[in-house]
Amino acid sequence: MTHSTAAHEFLRDPARAAWHDQTLWMVRAKRDRMATRVPEWEQLREAASRIKEHTLSRLADYLEQFADNAAENGIYVHWAADGEEHNRIVQGILQKHGARKLVKSKSMLTEECHLNPHLEKHGIEVIDTDLGERIVQLQKMPPSHIVMPAIHLKRAEVGEVFHEHLGTPAGLDDPQQLTEAARQHLRNHFLTADAALTGVNFAIAETGAFVVCTNEGNADMGAHLAPVHIACMGIEKIIPQQVHLGVFLRLLARSATGQPSTVFSSHFLKPRPGQEIHIVIVDNGRSRQLARPDYRKSLACIRCAACFNTCPVYRRSGGYSYSYFIAGPIGSILAPNVDKAAHSSMPFASTLCGSCTAVCPVKIDIHAQLLKWRQDITAAGHAPWWKKAAMFMTAYVVRRPALFRLGGWFMRKSARMLSFLRLDPWTQSRDLPQPPAQTFRQWYNQQSDEN
Ligand code: SF4
Repeated sequence: MTHSTAAHEFLRDPARAAWHDQTLWMVRAKRDRMATRVPEWEQLREAASRIKEHTLSRLADYLEQFADNAAENGIYVHWAADGEEHNRIVQGILQKHGARKLVKSKSMLTEECHLNPHLEKHGIEVIDTDLGERIVQLQKMPPSHIVMPAIHLKRAEVGEVFHEHLGTPAGLDDPQQLTEAARQHLRNHFLTADAALTGVNFAIAETGAFVVCTNEGNADMGAHLAPVHIACMGIEKIIPQQVHLGVFLRLLARSATGQPSTVFSSHFLKPRPGQEIHIVIVDNGRSRQLARPDYRKSLACIRCAACFNTCPVYRRSGGYSYSYFIAGPIGSILAPNVDKAAHSSMPFASTLCGSCTAVCPVKIDIHAQLLKWRQDITAAGHAPWWKKAAMFMTAYVVRRPALFRLGGWFMRKSARMLSFLRLDPWTQSRDLPQPPAQTFRQWYNQQSDEN
């Protein structure tokens, strides 16, 4: 299903779409307020961008340095070429310890590798412990946003999910009571889990330590109670030195939710006595992206989701309208790297307004990469037939002035018709801007006469 068709489903409920748009815009506005309170904000962005650029240029060296130091600290280091290998490694560690229940804090990498269904197939219960993730897990749905996984749901809907799965009273929609119910439910799982799994926000090559950022402390609860801690990271999570960490920690939470910092930024250096820590370092297509000069900078992403919150298309079409587990502008760059044909409509889900680039804390040229993917996807023949036909016709017409004038007249008329008839998914949900009555040629001639 293309993005625009899936977005049409979301837009069937205009009240929800408007509320989704406004909620995310509030987060974006909060991010702006926090950014303007840091006078050196632009210097921080520049520093982060340069650190990442440097790291990506020597990624193999820093990964080896990190792995050596982590191993020296007593952490077991594993390498996975793809998602399947990652899942097998995690399963192997759990089976070695006879683990039947895993508490998992938010990790988009495990979503990417489809870890939950893999482990469940092998008889291991997986409990997502981030509140938003747990809500969508109970619904058997994936996250719709990388930082706020259940942002598409209203309080009353969360109340229904809890009523059905946790036995809370019907109609409960008080956030405090719902949170308390979730806390009690998760506490029991934390206390009875055999192993904990966390993501990794930053891995420090110099020390072999890694940092996990959460607002709920669920990663810490899991990792500190369970005898086995498995941390899963993509190869791009490396930063060279401890001193670089502050740059990213100052940018991350402000860009994500407008907080000065995440509530918990936990540093893991070595296992406590009697505990095992395993780290699984995953490629899964990242080195392919690294080898593509036009797109390699997308690997600098720190997954703050600021580009989601500002994107007028994401805000109005929801996370489920994208065909990849990471939605929004950055997902639209990462997805075609994995499968160009399957995700061919994603880079077109953008107005190319550049707002994503303007807010990105690591200065990824997001809208330029989206434009490049459009060109690559079209050149590879993955554009829909009607678009190819339209482009062919346009090329034919613009080379012939008389036809061009006639075509301009026809397009102005047909654009009005298209809007009126509401034939395509986009114009079913919004008005197509009306073409100006005056053509560019008429305007130009008028200006020339006046001057
Ligand atoms: S691309 Fe930039 S703005 Fe978007 S999630 Fe990544 S770091 Fe944040």
